[in-house]
Amino acid sequence: MEFETKLLHAGVSEDQYTGATSVPIYMASTFHQQKIGESEYEYSRTGNPTRQAVEKLIADLEGGVAGFAFSSGSAAINTVFAMFSAGDHFVVGNDVYGGTFRLLENVLKRMGLTFTVVDTRDLIAVENAIQENTQAIYLETPTNPLLHVTDIAEIARIAQAHGILSIIDNTFASPYIQRPIEQGIDIVIHSASKYLGGHSDVIAGLVVTKDQKLADQVAYLQNSIGSILAPQESWLLQRGMKTLGLRMRAQLANTEKIFEYLSNQPLVSKIYYPGDPNNPDYEVARKQMNGFGAMLSFELQPGLDPQEFVEGLQLITLAESLGALESLIEIPALMTHGAIPRDIRLKNGIKDELIRLSVGAEDGKDLLLDLEQGFANLKGSHDHVRNGAVNS
Ligand SMILES: *Cc1c(COP(=O)(O)O)cnc(C)c1O
Repeated sequence: MEFETKLLHAGVSEDQYTGATSVPIYMASTFHQQKIGESEYEYSRTGNPTRQAVEKLIADLEGGVAGFAFSSGSAAINTVFAMFSAGDHFVVGNDVYGGTFRLLENVLKRMGLTFTVVDTRDLIAVENAIQENTQAIYLETPTNPLLHVTDIAEIARIAQAHGILSIIDNTFASPYIQRPIEQGIDIVIHSASKYLGGHSDVIAGLVVTKDQKLADQVAYLQNSIGSILAPQESWLLQRGMKTLGLRMRAQLANTEKIFEYLSNQPLVSKIYYPGDPNNPDYEVARKQMNGFGAMLSFELQPGLDPQEFVEGLQLITLAESLGALESLIEIPALMTHGAIPRDIRLKNGIKDELIRLSVGAEDGKDLLLDLEQGFANLKGSHDHVRNGAVNS
């Protein structure tokens, strides 16, 4: 079955009792057991039919053996790290989601987990960071907000060679664009609040495992910790996921148009986009991604105020989050990555003037018009044009 057909027909796509073409929202905390121990469902934290439908769907989409739905992406990440114990060490990507960094640095470190942060594109650095007590390599690709792309198959190979796990947060790509388990990765995590939900109306997290042993561990922890996705949200998430392919195709096409526009915009000094043939990660992106994603980041020419620019846009929404039908724009240093100490943030290449754009599904012409008026209204922009500042 092709991917876009799977979105509609894989997993559990209809109600097994009535044939309803949308799996109902089973609002029940407990289930009548005809005979003790013989029921499919006992208690909704352990298993709920609406949640299971979306869990089976994500497992099929990512090509894993089992899926798990959580109350947020953060809850999903925390539950995966609960597989480990004090004294365990991790190799972690240097450009991971700010909330993941906060969880590692301020919560999990207190509980005795240790980690080394590396640029996971540098495979030698990854290998060198592996210690005797290393349990896993944890990364994102493309990363947030610089859209760095790491070779997924190579990371899986390194992890396997060292007998450790590989874990990827696949939020920025979605399974439409890449499926890490098919490349040998052990565990895939999603903030489904982004592309999978797609409509800016649900907070959810998903986990998929490559094999049954890992699935049993995550199932045990999901039930023990209890940060599960509720039935209403499970239904909303599955409804959103049905249109992932349609949404992504529109959003990818808009992103290519915007990249081209920004490449020719003299007030832009730098663009971060894996689909840029001059991007050092371009070849890896082309090899492992179906399309280059619908995120791009850019910097304005020195002296121009990024805050003035994003606040001056009229159509593109100034907001955190990404992966929605509506285009969303933000300044990482002031918003999504504000919790990271400035020196660490700058060391990782996230400058104060960086702007991140999540391209939506509006008519691309309107997005270009909005960007154009935003640039035209920037104070100081006229000097730049007069002085012949050009895009590098
Ligand atoms: C948003 C996000 C998360 C956290 O997910 P929530 O659903 O907001 O808890 C984790 N990883 C990445 C890459 C994200 O973008």
